Amino acid sequence: MSSPKFSLIVHGGAWDIPAAAIPDCRAGIRHALEAGREILARDGAAMDAVEAAIIVLEDDITFDAGTGAHLNRDGRVQLDAIIMEGASLKAGAVAAVERIKNPIRLARKILESSEHMMLTGAGAELFAQENGIALCDPSELVIERERRAWQRCREGNHSSEFHFGHNHGTVGAVARDVQGRIVAATSTGGTCCKFPGRVGDSPLVGCGCYADAEAGGISCTGHGEAIMKIVMAKMAADLLRNGAAPQAAADECVQLLANRTQSTGGLILLDRSGRPAAAFNTSSMAHGYLEPDGSVFISP
Ligand code: ASP
Repeated sequence: MSSPKFSLIVHGGAWDIPAAAIPDCRAGIRHALEAGREILARDGAAMDAVEAAIIVLEDDITFDAGTGAHLNRDGRVQLDAIIMEGASLKAGAVAAVERIKNPIRLARKILESSEHMMLTGAGAELFAQENGIALCDPSELVIERERRAWQRCREGNHSSEFHFGHNHGTVGAVARDVQGRIVAATSTGGTCCKFPGRVGDSPLVGCGCYADAEAGGISCTGHGEAIMKIVMAKMAADLLRNGAAPQAAADECVQLLANRTQSTGGLILLDRSGRPAAAFNTSSMAHGYLEPDGSVFISP
């Protein structure tokens, strides 16, 4: 099969999406794909397309990233994000930031301007200030739906029924531009009522995200403590590197996640020529990709 001119795949988390939430998930995925497509179609960079797609999803309160993310045990939003570039293997990542409206912007700034690959908490926010990224008030990231869910968890037992999407709704994107550059990214508010400072798989190279021009790009979602155990994104990259077809690679990762950790999750990927695949063992995963003719496929 010949390679598409450019490719983009995005996700909004693998979770048991209630029927009432499906229209919002679909709209969010569509908007993210459109934002990325607009850049890729004018021969723009995969880095710009991925950043644009993730910003749409971070700003959409449907998803557990940026504004509207789950609150931690202390009632605060703490965000993690990563972006990785496949030719250089360079990545930029942030963890446990509380005053950054779009953590993916900061992750990109670290990739491009820092000698380091990951910054956390106050240090990441200091880097933002020193590099022209404005800090927001932490309360700007908190929405009423999540505050109410957190309140009810505090009053009773922490329970998934209080949470729209509960521990899920992380977002991710992978793009391949006309020049063949591959970039992958993941952004999350992590698990709800998490211990302050908890960091999951999402911002870790090889766990929640990986990009290698010789293999492909991957973004994961699901139970972070389980995904870290099998280093899922790097596993997918290794399978692709060794010649697995995109769908076979994605399926094998989810199977190992289930078999070795008895946990749930999913991933999206593009192989090095831009062919998309997605796999998950939850009832659904909000995701979509550009078809070769430029139209969009969206699920569920
Ligand atoms: N993987 C994320 C985390 O554990 C959560 C998710 O993808 O839903 O922080």
